[in-house]
Amino acid sequence: MSINRHMYQLGAKRNIMREIFEYGKKRAEIVGPENVLDFSLGNPSVPPPAKVNDTIRAVLSGPLSDSVHAYTSAQGDAEVRAALAASLRRRFGAKCGPEHLYLTVGAAAALCSCLFGLACPGDEFIVIVPYFTEYKVFIDGTGAATVEVPAKEGTFDLDLEALDQAINRHTKGIILNSPNNPSGVVYPAETLTALGDLLRRKSAQFADPIYLISDEPYREVVYEGVTVPWIPAYYENTLVCYSYSKCLSLPGERIGYVLVPPSMEDHQTVYAAVGGAGRSLGYINAPSLFQHVAAACDGETADLSVYQTNRNLLYEGLTGMGYTCVRPDGTFYLMVKAPEPDAEAFCRRAMARDLLLAPTDTFGLPGYVRIAFCVDTEKVRKALPVFRELAEEYGL
Ligand code: PLP
Repeated sequence: MSINRHMYQLGAKRNIMREIFEYGKKRAEIVGPENVLDFSLGNPSVPPPAKVNDTIRAVLSGPLSDSVHAYTSAQGDAEVRAALAASLRRRFGAKCGPEHLYLTVGAAAALCSCLFGLACPGDEFIVIVPYFTEYKVFIDGTGAATVEVPAKEGTFDLDLEALDQAINRHTKGIILNSPNNPSGVVYPAETLTALGDLLRRKSAQFADPIYLISDEPYREVVYEGVTVPWIPAYYENTLVCYSYSKCLSLPGERIGYVLVPPSMEDHQTVYAAVGGAGRSLGYINAPSLFQHVAAACDGETADLSVYQTNRNLLYEGLTGMGYTCVRPDGTFYLMVKAPEPDAEAFCRRAMARDLLLAPTDTFGLPGYVRIAFCVDTEKVRKALPVFRELAEEYGL
């Protein structure tokens, strides 16, 4: 049989997080779902805000009811893009119009449209370790190389010296993800200012722009008044990849966008390449009904307060037991150092007690586990004594 081996391997390959998730579903049939403490996947646990369903009902019964299921313009409905651009101008002082937005099937498609639109033979894209596993899959698809640059040990902030070393004349771009999956870190303004300076200097040195691809599906999922800096304000050659999956709890509906701001050099050409990539990847257009939901609900969030409660309970509980944790300022992930070098072995011990965690090896960083705390607080309360038992077993 002659098929694409790379694609075969992607489809057949073991994805440990999915495996743990499937295991959890099987265990739930045996011991009851309330007894499976599943912290493996980043599936939002809170319902979307009421405005989502109100908008759907209004669109389906209003003047658009006949046309809403039709194809839209490839880049997204013009009125939807105008509404989103107005929202970005209002909320972030962004200098953009509808002609700078390209609606996508979530952040994943936004990232692919940018990467495929930019990549040329021999190019490299930098990712910051630990990183969302799919970045490498997306970059591999373009034929470009993935270059892993570690974040700073301990704080997981950007290591600008390491970035300085890694950037070379083949570097086409850097994927930045703040708030970060899996570390929960939000990069501060000072880091972004220094990053902007570094990228300007390197772009001038190699006489070619180095693009920042800012992956922002967790932009609104932040704690205690933390705000996420608007990245294009720090570096002009930034493409923003946004998604409504996490803030509106709509991951299955697949809606997001790419912003190619007019501050970017040759922004019209880049915008056309992003759209061309979307065309080549067969995206056609983002889901029409949910384009309207995005326009009406941009800036709204689901009630995210449960994540704050869970973050506090877990961070304080686990550090009190002797675990070393990275304090998340955003996202619904908490990274904990495994109490033995083999994080998978620690996860197996936890799994034997129906506590399901993800080792961060697949995020490029061995030795940690990721706790996805987008669950009912009751599950967090049930999990804490299990973490304590494990801490005692390991003698923390
Ligand atoms: N980027 C990061 C960092 C993510 O964690 C995820 C999903 O978990 C995505 C992108 C993909 O999001 P979407 O559902 O919008 O495609």
